[in-house]
Amino acid sequence: MPKAIVVEQTGSPSALKWRDVEVGRPAKGEVTVRTKSIGVNFIDIYMRSGLYPMETPFIPGGEMCGEIEAVGGGVSGFKIGDRVACGTAGTGCYTELLNIDAGKLVKVPREISDDVAASMMLQGMTVQFLIRQVHKVQKGETILVHAAAGGVGLILCQWAKSLGATVIGTVGSPAKARLAKAHGCDYPIIYSRENFVDRVRKITKGEMVPVVYDSIGKATWPASLDCLQKRGLFVSFGNASGPIPDFSPLILMQKGSLVMTRPTLFDFVSTPDELRKSAGEVMKVIKSGAVKIEVNHKYSLREAARAHRDLAARKTTGSIVLEP
Ligand code: NDP
Repeated sequence: MPKAIVVEQTGSPSALKWRDVEVGRPAKGEVTVRTKSIGVNFIDIYMRSGLYPMETPFIPGGEMCGEIEAVGGGVSGFKIGDRVACGTAGTGCYTELLNIDAGKLVKVPREISDDVAASMMLQGMTVQFLIRQVHKVQKGETILVHAAAGGVGLILCQWAKSLGATVIGTVGSPAKARLAKAHGCDYPIIYSRENFVDRVRKITKGEMVPVVYDSIGKATWPASLDCLQKRGLFVSFGNASGPIPDFSPLILMQKGSLVMTRPTLFDFVSTPDELRKSAGEVMKVIKSGAVKIEVNHKYSLREAARAHRDLAARKTTGSIVLEP
């Protein structure tokens, strides 16, 4: 019987239990996939901890790469043996075997490894909607990115740099600053030691930036707003330090007629066409060498709790995968 990580009750990392699971025949529109590599993302922590309400029991994980073992009725375009990846499953990927809606899958080209495929989908497509859709990063622009050495952060820095932007990034340590710098971050700021608003003012000679990409939440709020130019865009796309507390929209007026958005990937790849387009752009920047996916941490699937502890404790950089 296949094994999976199951959350029976939300809570600490020890809520991640190693269990037998039954995986039947794929339903109409589904395929059965044997996972080869499974992406670990911060959203998995929000779900496991209960920050994002979940019905239990559930198998966490929204991202994986694997091989098709069976094809359900009505599925076209996929066959047994195809190597596929998914970044928008939401849940269900911390497993050896799963049935999944074929509409959520893309085929993985030969030159992209299992680990890269399992890391590029959710994080890469997140960067795609952030810098190509929510705000189109322009050549000559200076942008601010928090957690620049993280999974999403390293991809964002490289991709924005390749578009001709100057990238300012916050990081938690000197080692992370070096890593971010090597991946397109022109000005890493160690925000535990330096006031990032002052540094952004200095770097931009008082002009500040047109867009801030903030995945930290509580700890960088509302200072992130102070880094923006008048009518600038505040993109709040995560809560690694906890959610932003309730606030009055008046603050956006007071700080310069700012615009705020709180987007989620799922609304940018909700149709097969959108998914193919976004994944296609991600694969293109990877194949061209503009973006290198850094899979810096690998754990066995059974050790998912350790991966969650390390990610939450800010011990990781780049992307993390679980090996089934
Ligand atoms: P990361 O690899 O970026 O890990 C999170 C990083 O956040 C840490 O390494 C740490 O970097 C920083 N951080 C700052 N404060 C804290 C804190 N109190 N606790 C933990 N970490 C902290 O994770 P991911 O790449 O998986 O995700 C990055 C962010 O993007 C997450 O917030 C995630 O929710 C968000 N996201 C949002 C999506 C969307 O659709 N809206 C989709 C995908 C991801 P440092 O030490 O350098 O500060």
